[in-house]
Amino acid sequence: MPNHYPYNSARKKRITARLIERDGLVCCFCGELIDPLLKRNDDMALSVDHIIPMREDGNSRLENLRLAHRWCNSKDRRTRAEKLEARNRKGK
Ligand SMILES: [Zn+2]
Repeated sequence: MPNHYPYNSARKKRITARLIERDGLVCCFCGELIDPLLKRNDDMALSVDHIIPMREDGNSRLENLRLAHRWCNSKDRRTRAEKLEARNRKGK
């Protein structure tokens, strides 16, 4: 795994559990359910998004974290989010 998190996996598990408790198993980008049993490398697997990115002085505190599908949280998501937004605007 080339990617690793700045905190250990026990902490990550605990944070994930808190986020699920707080927000439910819902993707913050597309609003659809996340299946926590999917493999980590699955596009729709659960991932943790930083609201303020680490590179912009974000931190790994609960207030700055939310759940997303791995794919929605990827670099492609902006395009997808913008498309969805455009579609929603048209639809109404
Ligand atoms: Zn999603």
